[in-house]
Formats: sequence, structure tokens, C-alpha cells
Amino acid sequence: MCGIFAYTGNTGKEAGKVLLDGLLSLEYRGYDSAGIFMPDAGSVKSPGAVAELRKKVPQDFKGKSGIAHLRWATHGEPTEVNAHPHADSSGDIWVVHNGIIENFKELKHALEKKGHTFKSTTDTEVLAHLVEEHLKTEKSFEKAALAALNEVRGTYGIALQYKKEPDRIIAARMGSPIVLGLGDGEHFIASDPSPILPHTKKVVFLEDGEVAVISPDGHSIFKLDATKVKREVTEIDWDAEQAQKGGYEHFMLKEIMEGPEVVENSLRGRLIPEKGLAKLGGLESVAKQLDTIDRIIIVACGTAAYAGQAGEYMFEAETGIPVEVEIGSEFRYKKPVINERTAVLAITQSGETLDTLEAIREGKRRGALTLGIVNTVGSTIARETDAGVYNHAGPEISVASTKAFLSQLTVLALLAMFLGRRRGMSEEKGREIAKALKELPDKIRTVLEQREKIEALAKKYVHSRDFLYIGRKYNFAVAFEGAIKLKELSYIHAEGCGAGEMKHGPIAMIDENFPTMALAPKDSMYEKMISNIHEIKARKGPVIAIATEGDEEIAKLVDDVIYVPETLEMLSPILNVVPLQLFAYYVAKEKGFNVDRPRNLAKSVTVE
Ligand code: GLU
Repeated sequence: MCGIFAYTGNTGKEAGKVLLDGLLSLEYRGYDSAGIFMPDAGSVKSPGAVAELRKKVPQDFKGKSGIAHLRWATHGEPTEVNAHPHADSSGDIWVVHNGIIENFKELKHALEKKGHTFKSTTDTEVLAHLVEEHLKTEKSFEKAALAALNEVRGTYGIALQYKKEPDRIIAARMGSPIVLGLGDGEHFIASDPSPILPHTKKVVFLEDGEVAVISPDGHSIFKLDATKVKREVTEIDWDAEQAQKGGYEHFMLKEIMEGPEVVENSLRGRLIPEKGLAKLGGLESVAKQLDTIDRIIIVACGTAAYAGQAGEYMFEAETGIPVEVEIGSEFRYKKPVINERTAVLAITQSGETLDTLEAIREGKRRGALTLGIVNTVGSTIARETDAGVYNHAGPEISVASTKAFLSQLTVLALLAMFLGRRRGMSEEKGREIAKALKELPDKIRTVLEQREKIEALAKKYVHSRDFLYIGRKYNFAVAFEGAIKLKELSYIHAEGCGAGEMKHGPIAMIDENFPTMALAPKDSMYEKMISNIHEIKARKGPVIAIATEGDEEIAKLVDDVIYVPETLEMLSPILNVVPLQLFAYYVAKEKGFNVDRPRNLAKSVTVE
């Protein structure tokens, strides 16, 4: 997820200034690198955010149109050469891109054979070269762009500019957002309306498969097959800050609502459903070594460690490899027993968490194969591990992690398939997991539709002083994750507990003022969970159940129910955690706390 902004106008405004100022409001979308191209002035790029780019922009960098970008790297390190905009071989065609070109390797290979030379290691650069190639035979820049886009697989939001037609800019959308801004004598392209709003409130949202051309005086939209489209103009009444949050009140809610898209992005290009296989390019280089591994130690902290706990159950059930989860801050102090047949797998959103980094270093010192499930490309842990899988979840701004957790669980399931199929998992089983994974985004949507109901529940329970979260097997980890969300956001004391473990201590706390959130899907643990809920009800404890759609029985036993669609048992945490995230969000909001920045916490913890 990165930020795109493009401008063309004949109003006398300085395009360089418009673009640089506009990028500032897109910084929440990524800041690995920033770059700008203007046909009248050339290109400037820099690692880091807009402030770094500004330092490099010369005084005479002036023009009437241009394209600009803030990168959140997915392919290739966040360096200056990998910064967008990217150009073709002639330096005439320039592109900024948000998304992933899945077939870039094949395309790049074919273009290299035709004599194109590539400067960066990004997937994006193929777009510029592909348009250049088509321009040899097509009659116009638009036609060449359309031909190129028809060859591309994956997701994109792009802005494309041709030096020889400097006042026209092409935009296209497939999976990544693009909005056009319609001004008087000036037009804009952006990832969200925030950089457009200081200039005009009139916008047009592109839909997937649509291409647009803007010029100072107008815009036109067509489909990938060149047929014309008429799209209505929207008047925006949000301010720039609301626009960054997609109209949501907080980044946390926006990120929870992004869940379906995030799971889609984590799966993109990684499943061969008909063969029941997971394809993880980042692990190819160590695939042989992975076959010799007889133990996996997952190292992580906080929410990522809870994802790891669910991963432990998936790996043991589906691969037969013994797995342990270790908290990053403990691992290196306990003299872990490790050898070259051990894989140490770090799970981290930022890739900078010091405790996890030190655990990986300890694993390396002791000869283990080190792996990472990391969201931030080029981060320290991504660089220091031997191999890994990126989450592609987009930047997470809210301190409380939500979408990254969904993505971590998704990647863990892919990894369980990847390792499992190399160790005797049947093709049929692989196909079953692949199918269930692909169905998840729609099922998450069904859960998100119940926002209002969950908000009402949050209002009902907002005055509780304590909360217990219980679950078993795969949902054991979800109980801990639900509890940490509630406590970190609303400062209510919340404890996660294995439902079977409750009777060995925590049940002593239960009375009519101590509610329990019970994860009780219709799976292999259902009956055990029902017994545990009975134990709480016998002590007058209020219970909210997260249950499977259609389970009418449970409603008679508990005080409140949130229904979730059925899925494979190993994937159920991905659905069950969503109502818990929403519940924690609404409780904190109801209490009037700063949801995106809970007290005493930081997003990326780089101290011990
Ligand atoms: N895949 C492109 C890159 O790595 C764009 C990334 C993005 O959308 O953030 O440069």
C-alpha cells in the first residue's frame, strides 16, 4: 500500500509544490521512499518520507504537471533506485504504482530478451517497459497503456506519464484505490481524496478494471477493453484527516475493516488451489534445508506471539513438526537448545521489534535456520533472516495490531500447507485448505457487517472492571489476543485463559460482575466449551459467546451471542478474532480513550 499523487494544470500553480504538499497527507500509506517526476524538470527520489525528498529537490524544479509517490515496499529493498517513479529504457515513460504485479518475473524476462534493461528490483518497473514496448506498434500512448495493462496480472493503482505529452496523465485501477480530482483548469489522481481536498471537493472514484486520462481541462474514463464509462462525480465533505482514514473515525477501525482485503493480499499469487499447493517464493532458496528441519521455534512478542500460538497448532497438526512458541524477550536468556536442524521463525509486523530481533540473532549464533513472517519489507528482521514470507498487509498505523494479526494467521496457514505438502499432506487436504482460505475474505465481510450489534454489546459491558476470555485448541490463542486488545485499549483488566485451565485458578474470580467472552465455534472442542460455559453460568458469570452461524442452542445458555460463519477449524481464529477486535475498539471509544494511541505503548518496540 503506497501513496500516489499526480497533477496537471494550467492555472499557474507550481506542480512541484502541489505534489510535495499533497504527498504529506499520504504519508500514512507508507514512507519507505518518496519520489517525483515532472516532464519539465526530471525526477528526484529519496529513501524515507517527504521531508527527505524535499531536501533533495533543487530550487529550479518547476513544472506544470507531474506524478509523485510514497512507497511501501513489497518487491525490492526500500532504496533510492527502487523508489518510484520508474521509467522505461528511453526515459520518456514514467510510472508510479501501488500494488503487486504478480507476473512481473515472466514479463521482465521477456522484455530483457527484447533488449530492455532494468534499473530496479521492483515489480513496478516492468509497467514502464511494457508500455514502451507496446508504443512501438500501437498508435497512441493510451492504446499502448491499455495493451500493457491487459498483459498484467495482480493488483495496481497507477499513474502513468509520457514526456512527449506532458499535460496528460493516465490512471488505472485494479484492486488498489484511485480517485480523480476535478478542478477548474487542473486535474488530479490520488490514492485517496486527502491531497486533492485543498484544491477541489469534486472527485470521481475509479472502479476495478477502469482506466482514466486527465488533462488540465477534463477527464475521460474507459474500461480495459477501451469501451467508454460514465462515472458520477462525488462532492466530498470530509476534511483531509478523515480522508486519510477512509472516512472512519480511527485508523484502528479502518484497519479492522480492511481485513478481507488484507487476507486477499496475503494470499495473492500464493495458492495453486487445484493442486492444493502453497507457493512461497521467499522460501524457495531454503526449501531443501526446510526438509531436514525437525523442530520449529516461533519467536515473537504480544499479538504476533498469539498468532504464533495458533501457528503452533496448525504446524503440529498439518506437518508433524514439533513447534514451540517463545516470547522474544525471554528466548535468548534461557540458553535455548538449538541445532542446525532447528528453524527459528520470527513473526513481526514492523520487522524491527528488538526482542524478536535479538531472538533471531541468538538462533543464528546457535546455528539455526532463521525465517521471518514480516510485514515491512527491507526491515532489519527481514534482512537478517535467511528467508521468509512478507505479509503484504500494508502499513498498520494504529498501535493496537489488528489487520497484521489476520495476515500473520493467513501466512501461517500457507506455511503449514507449504511444509505439510512436502511432508506427506495429501493433495486433497491441501485443496481443502486452499478452498477454505479463498473463502475467508467474504466470511470476514459477514462478520464486519455486525459492527452495530458489537457496538451495542460494547455499550452494555463498558462498565465492567474485569473480563475473562476463554477458548480451546485453535481458539486458545484467540482468547489471549482478545484479552490483550481489550486491556491495551480500554485499560479494563482482561485475562486470556484456556477454557479447560479455568478450573485450575481463574474461575475463582467469576461472579455476576465478571463477564466472560467465550470462543465456542462448532468444532471438535464445542462440547468441552459448552461444559466450561456451564461452569461459569453456575457461578452467575455473564457470558458473551462467539459462536457458529445457526447455533441456536448456545443462545439459550449465554447472555449474548455474536455469530461467525463456519470455516475449517485451523482457520477459525481468522474469523473469531474480528468481533473481539471490534468489541475492544468500541469499548475504548465509548470510554473516550485515544483508540489509535493507547497510553504507555508504542507501535514498534525497539527497546528491550
Ligand atoms: N510493488 C511495488 C513496490 O514494491 C509497489 C508497492 C506498494 O504498493 O506499496 O515498489
